[in-house]
Amino acid sequence: MSLLELKEVTKTYKSGKLAVNKVSFNLNNGECLGLVGESGCGKSTLARCIMRVENIDKGSIVFNGEAMEKLSERRLHHYRKKIQIVFQNPSSALNPKLKIKDSLIDPYDQYRQSLNLRHFSFHSKEQFILQLLDAVELPSELADRYPHELSGGQRQRITIARAISIEPELIVLDEPTASLDVLSQKAVLNLLTDLRKTLDLSYLFISHDLAAVNQMSQRTLVMKSGEVVDQFNEYNLFSNDRHIYTKKLISIF
Ligand code: ADP
Ligand code: MG
Repeated sequence: MSLLELKEVTKTYKSGKLAVNKVSFNLNNGECLGLVGESGCGKSTLARCIMRVENIDKGSIVFNGEAMEKLSERRLHHYRKKIQIVFQNPSSALNPKLKIKDSLIDPYDQYRQSLNLRHFSFHSKEQFILQLLDAVELPSELADRYPHELSGGQRQRITIARAISIEPELIVLDEPTASLDVLSQKAVLNLLTDLRKTLDLSYLFISHDLAAVNQMSQRTLVMKSGEVVDQFNEYNLFSNDRHIYTKKLISIF
């Protein structure tokens, strides 16, 4: 079943820049859908449209059967709980003045009235924080530290822990490993794959790194200058009928 359905989504910035041009796709329940393309092709703009931090000019975005451009404020709050985003730079996503434990509890506090957790349980704040740190394979002593006392990879694991803490249905991963060294990248991608399975999550995995996208995703869309020009699945990336632009991306790696 389709969890997220985009039809001819178009976004123009006030500057006149047409950043996303008639993008259509379905993302199925439980799937990791890849979105690959070089810098500036409109990936993050599309992510922000899905998160509804940008309004679209034309087209429709339907999540769980609900057209999101028509959502009331109350439904929008519900929608925001179901879709979380992880950004490239974990440092800017974490409040430097908050201890890790306080950053971790923040999404829970925001949505606690309407949460119905299946995988985590909340008996006490301390115990909840420990479950989250454990889920992202971090030691419990990090709870009392500040973001600057963590490595980049550890910080990104904290933003992932925040995203999963309210058990969303979909996580938009916008270049989640682009700021990390190669070893941390691999470890974070493996963690994300495990979490998708254990927590029944779906991902939209955005990256300029074709190899990483293909490793993570069952299907991948290729974006160029605001448009989706190709899509392939985990078995036919190297088949001959790939778009010429996809072949160019393959040749770079
Ligand atoms: P990507 O994430 O693929 O690198 P972006 O979605 O960030 O691409 O950007 C797509 C295009 O839109 C680029 O040409 C970028 O310069 C432009 N753009 C991004 N954000 C804005 C903005 N807030 N205002 C105007 N133009 C923007
Ligand atoms: Mg981007």
